[in-house]
Amino acid sequence: MERTIFQDTHETFRRTARDFMTREVVPHYADWDAAGLVPRDIFRRIGELGILGMQIPAEYGGAGSDSFLYAAVWAEETARAYVNLGGFSAHLHIVLPYFLAYSSVEQRRRWFPGLGSGALMASIAMTEPGTGSDLAGMTTMAEKRDGHYVINGAKTFITGGINADLVLVVARTGKGANRRDGLSLLVVERDMPGFTRGRNLEKIGLRTQDTAELFFQDVRVPEENLLGEEGDAFSYMTSNLPQERLGIAVASQAAAEAALATTVGYVQDRKAFGTTVSSFQNTKFELAACAAEIEAGRFLVDRALVAHDAGELSAADAAKVKIFTTELQGRVVDRCLQLHGGYGYMREYAIGRLYADARISRILGGSTEVLKTIVAKSMGL
Ligand SMILES: Cc1cc2nc3c(=O)[nH]c(=O)nc-3n(C[C@H](O)[C@H](O)[C@H](O)COP(=O)(O)OP(=O)(O)OC[C@H]3O[C@@H](n4cnc5c(N)ncnc54)[C@H](O)[C@@H]3O)c2cc1C
Repeated sequence: MERTIFQDTHETFRRTARDFMTREVVPHYADWDAAGLVPRDIFRRIGELGILGMQIPAEYGGAGSDSFLYAAVWAEETARAYVNLGGFSAHLHIVLPYFLAYSSVEQRRRWFPGLGSGALMASIAMTEPGTGSDLAGMTTMAEKRDGHYVINGAKTFITGGINADLVLVVARTGKGANRRDGLSLLVVERDMPGFTRGRNLEKIGLRTQDTAELFFQDVRVPEENLLGEEGDAFSYMTSNLPQERLGIAVASQAAAEAALATTVGYVQDRKAFGTTVSSFQNTKFELAACAAEIEAGRFLVDRALVAHDAGELSAADAAKVKIFTTELQGRVVDRCLQLHGGYGYMREYAIGRLYADARISRILGGSTEVLKTIVAKSMGL
């Protein structure tokens, strides 16, 4: 069915994105996969296309758009090329919105040009070895001393943690009546003394995405690097989550579509019992069932994108969209891999990588279980 959410300008941008993937990403992708991260320079090249600065105000070199649709087009074209661009999505979908919403004029002058050009890549560090889903349980401390916050603690699973120039660290600056009180957002810069990066963690999928442990030992962060108000980080995280979850939903939906596309091609080439795999009724039924589910997911995501641009995507609705699309992605990649036989289990085949990459979608950015509690709450349960 026809999609109606994109205009000509989006389709022009789609062609640019597609061309970029073909020329600058796909030829090098096997090397990046083996290295465990994308080269830092690729972000500057992406920055030249304008996508990193799309939502940054024009006075700081951006395009000043408040639409998420260009980011969605980019995510779709990334999936269509069967690639992953490391910390790119975390930077654009998750971290940048905090800077856009909560930075002061001085901070905007300092960071916006770099964030929009790719000269500065940013990560967000919430998760700790002892706390993930339960964000209010964070123990990383930031004590106020002589015009600085002194950070001590450790974070883990940080996307883009190796390549990042700025890390938005959520740390405890005080105590309150509620566990959610007293958390603040502090911008830690690349070379601050006491800030060290651990290893690039060995994952079962998303091999080009650097995911790191970060350590903070008496890191002195000037007060000017506090983003927003001291103690308000929990409410900031809550209000940014719908976009984070929508971004994951867009990527999951696009990955499911990519899995179907590569499988439709594969089964028409592969022969068994003197005929093509595509001629078996089971193959047709499996792929038809995937196509029907994908169509439903597509309409849900498109509806959510429109609602988000209109400022109407609620936390519960974003949770529903993420649950639906990430579970859909899991089912589709599994069925598609099955139709590849043993070749599907090989990383050199796109479906093998899509299968391994898909598994984390149901966990990060709010696991399916945690999201169900949000939806249930919205139902009065
Ligand atoms: C590849 C990757 C990239 C990541 N990127 C980042 C990043 O950039 N920044 C960052 O801060 N974090 C990042 N994370 C961390 C990610 O957000 C957490 O892994 C996630 O929030 C889950 O936390 P956890 O791993 O501690 O699991 P836990 O919270 O320990 O959960 C374990 C299990 O318990 C379930 N559970 C937890 N609470 C409930 C509940 N109330 N009801 C029912 N079930 C529940 C969960 O659903 C899960 O099944 C990343 C993780 C990975 C693997």
